[in-house]
Amino acid sequence: MKNVDAVVIGTGMGSLTTACLLTKRGLSCTVLEQNYLAGGCTSSYWRKGFVFESGATTLVGLDEGMPLHSLVGELGIDLKPTRLEVPMQVHLKNGQTLTRHQDLQAWIAEAENAFGAKNQRAFWEFCYKLSGFVWRTSLKQTAFPPTRLRDLWHCALNANAEQLYYAQYAFYTVDWLLKRYDLHENALFVDFVNEQLLITAQNYAPEVNLLFGATALCYTNYGNYYMEGGLINLVNPFLAYLQARGAEVNMREAVQHITHTAGKYIITTNKDQYSAKYLISGIPINNLVEIYAGKYQRYWQKKILTSESLNSAFQMGIAFRGKNENPCLHHQIHLKNALPAVESASVFVSLNHPDDLTRSDEAGYTVASVSTHLHHPEQRVIPDKTVIENCIIEVLEEKGLLKREDIVYTHSSAQKSWAKWTGRKYGFVGGYPQMKRIKPWQMPATRIDGKGAYLCGDTAYPGQGIPGVVLSGIIAYKQLERDFL
Ligand SMILES: Cc1cc2nc3c(=O)[nH]c(=O)nc-3n(C[C@H](O)[C@H](O)[C@H](O)COP(=O)(O)OP(=O)(O)OC[C@H]3O[C@@H](n4cnc5c(N)ncnc54)[C@H](O)[C@@H]3O)c2cc1C
Repeated sequence: MKNVDAVVIGTGMGSLTTACLLTKRGLSCTVLEQNYLAGGCTSSYWRKGFVFESGATTLVGLDEGMPLHSLVGELGIDLKPTRLEVPMQVHLKNGQTLTRHQDLQAWIAEAENAFGAKNQRAFWEFCYKLSGFVWRTSLKQTAFPPTRLRDLWHCALNANAEQLYYAQYAFYTVDWLLKRYDLHENALFVDFVNEQLLITAQNYAPEVNLLFGATALCYTNYGNYYMEGGLINLVNPFLAYLQARGAEVNMREAVQHITHTAGKYIITTNKDQYSAKYLISGIPINNLVEIYAGKYQRYWQKKILTSESLNSAFQMGIAFRGKNENPCLHHQIHLKNALPAVESASVFVSLNHPDDLTRSDEAGYTVASVSTHLHHPEQRVIPDKTVIENCIIEVLEEKGLLKREDIVYTHSSAQKSWAKWTGRKYGFVGGYPQMKRIKPWQMPATRIDGKGAYLCGDTAYPGQGIPGVVLSGIIAYKQLERDFL
């Protein structure tokens, strides 16, 4: 049996964050990853001479004051990302194409043009103000959501007048804001808001908490970045950081069983056994409760969301002849008719950067990573993937993003592939969706059992996306530090 201070499960961006911070603090860490590649839903893989993204394609959080910026600053990691001039385009059902400019004024003008001038300015200025507040607060309130008196004390000590004022919006949803600005009957706008929320908050306006929703809707109003060679190059520097400081990162090693005895976690994998004072879980809480038995499970059973509340993704990788000349890499396309079998009403397409020559063996090709939501993955049956693939190609052709005759390679996957790639229950991805009945302080907190096990990743507060899971990893570290170090 190997003895370490901390065992970290998974190499997702959440757990890598905590692992790096613990290693920096001088703790011995072993990171265990069931896959042959690191990164989980933020990763890239090589297939038939092309590099495809495993899941995430857009990257925010690197602007000053944001979690990833703070993390790389603290660790001294130099990422060298490319800042995108145009963060995203949205192709509406009515045929219009909107550019989601980073500059707020330019975006408001674009939105007024598409949806009518009525109250667009007020809506977006309010959302932007709220999102600024959320980002400013995110790294200050690292004991949130509180589960102990001392967390409340920490929250109070770090509270200010601004937080007390904006806290009221935790009681509202995005739907409320649409009504407040009399935009709820503007069908085209409501549709736009809902599809944008789905990719950033995993749910629709009536369910998404306003603090999270405003931040999600203003995702494109902050610096959006591209990593040359794919998002695996966001992950690799963190792995290199760990290895350079003596932490072990073991690939193809799946954690199968965990117990806690005599103040230590005993972690059994398919290859070995470890004893550790601390356990960091970067896997969904749904998975953890199946491999770690104990009294704590009763508490978690109430918090766990099951398949009917969750999403997986239908994913397609396409390589085609021709250099990408499109100045915008990320496109959300709203569909006139939902895709067959997956039943989603939009697809998200990301192209490689025109200057990135590392995404294909030979020059002169473009790589597209396409994804769309697939609700209730446990019960979803996809009888024929080629039907969906054809619909997606048709849509991309219609929007001028590619020509069918230029395609040289395609592949697609759904929930079963996700379950294999990430080990996640039902193959669900994207994190726990925002839900009206779950207020921010009721979201899964980082302490798992109060004995030294901590949860991070996209099923812990604050949830979705790379910035969210990095913040969850920072919170897990800070809580462990305050509890034990
Ligand atoms: C299709 C798609 C598109 C997305 N687009 C974006 C985007 O554009 N921008 C953005 O910011 N976010 C996006 N996201 C969300 C983002 O990718 C995820 O929220 C984030 O990467 C999840 O990180 P995580 O730390 O929770 O861990 P995960 O990525 O889930 O990683 C967990 C790791 O743990 C490993 N593991 C599981 N079980 C075990 C075990 N028993 N033993 C050992 N290892 C185990 C897995 O193999 C995996 O590597 C997208 C997600 C998907 C699926």
